[in-house]
Amino acid sequence: MSMLIMSAGRPINKHQLLDVISAFLHGRKPNTTSYSVCIECKRRGNVCVMVAHGIPCMGPVTHAGCNALCPTYNRGCYGPKETPNTASLSNWFKRLGVNEVDLVRYFRSYYGNSEHFYKESKVHMKKRD
Ligand code: SF4
Repeated sequence: MSMLIMSAGRPINKHQLLDVISAFLHGRKPNTTSYSVCIECKRRGNVCVMVAHGIPCMGPVTHAGCNALCPTYNRGCYGPKETPNTASLSNWFKRLGVNEVDLVRYFRSYYGNSEHFYKESKVHMKKRD
């Protein structure tokens, strides 16, 4: 169960599913990356939706593994990665015009109970009031 949670915030792909099953059967840890979706996004040669179009994207704080599926189709990404720099991303979003109410929504819409997203949403909850 906990191995499947590693993909929290985005859909898993068939390779990840097979690796998790294989890892479980062989008693090893699954092969997971520690970088963000932005790395996969750049490898695909995508234009950044946040920089180019001003679309808020959670890619910088989201665990890689989806092959940047949503940004490839000009949509922002969502979901937590290990040690996400949520404060930095919030500052980016503010520069894009996102207000405190919407910052709370971004960090609570998907996996809002994850430690980092919950803490960041609380920061903006206080500023919102
Ligand atoms: S579109 Fe999102 S995932 Fe891709 S580089 Fe920009 S912020 Fe990162």
